[in-house]
Amino acid sequence: MKEFTENLRQFARDHGADLVGITPAARLDAALKPGFRAVDQFPEVKSVVVLGLHIPDASLEVMEKGISNYSYNMFGYAYLNRELDYLAYRVTRYLEDNGYLALPIPARGEHYWEKQPHHGPVSFRHAAVAAGLGTFGWQGLVLTPEFGPRQRFIAVLTDAELESGQVMNQDLDTCKRCLACVKNCPAGAIKEKEEWGVVIAGKKFVYGVVDCEACAWMAEGYSSRLWEGAPFQPKVDVPRPETLDARLSYDYKWHRRDPALTNSEHAEGNFGASFCGRCLITCPLGRAAAKRRRRSAKE
Ligand code: SF4
Ligand code: SF4
Repeated sequence: MKEFTENLRQFARDHGADLVGITPAARLDAALKPGFRAVDQFPEVKSVVVLGLHIPDASLEVMEKGISNYSYNMFGYAYLNRELDYLAYRVTRYLEDNGYLALPIPARGEHYWEKQPHHGPVSFRHAAVAAGLGTFGWQGLVLTPEFGPRQRFIAVLTDAELESGQVMNQDLDTCKRCLACVKNCPAGAIKEKEEWGVVIAGKKFVYGVVDCEACAWMAEGYSSRLWEGAPFQPKVDVPRPETLDARLSYDYKWHRRDPALTNSEHAEGNFGASFCGRCLITCPLGRAAAKRRRRSAKE
């Protein structure tokens, strides 16, 4: 199985994956809630293959400078999700062609809204940490040595018993606790002192509690505080309703936001040019990783 695992990793890299990690499904599932485990999606699952794609650094840097958030919305989110779906499909077919069952989980999970808003069927972030690709940052994103928080993930569940990676330790090299993510969140969604804890393969990880509703309200373009001064910025502030189910959310998204945002909606599903991402952009580990990569590419 060692050789097959290495061939699978190479296949994924040859098809564009920047990061490839593998965790035993049982290791991941021990950290997840019933109903949101790999085994709940695919009872035969033995391993979870996690694939990561890098978000282009310049798309984040022009956003930070207030020039434009247009590139990030597509190449940091909407189109990147599509690209992850294609990659997961190719890896799924590779597993099938070698006699295994494989279930790719789509990069976006809105269809799980009724079960738990803002959650997909299986947490790609937890899967990435369980696969040894990185650790959690305070803002709850995965920080990898290669890119800091600047990547997105997808997962393929399979009945193949693949060789897995070693889980990393969470320490000050992986999240500096500078709280830049907390201070730069326009929604005040990331708590400074409240934390979540999770144990994966006997290792404890902590990260800040995030108010997902407050984040989504800001990130989906209902507030003029999103990227003040930048183009493609919401011009209206829409008060947040007390409760928001999937149907009401659809109504808000399409009928109550700044029409300029709704009109800029792209077929790839970027909710208009409005995404936030400040907790990702302002993390110094992303900047440091970008500098390191540029330096070593030029050497
Ligand atoms: S995406 Fe924006 S609103 Fe959401 S947690 Fe990050 S900084 Fe806050
Ligand atoms: S900005 Fe990055 S390094 Fe700083 S606390 Fe947040 S996740 Fe950790």
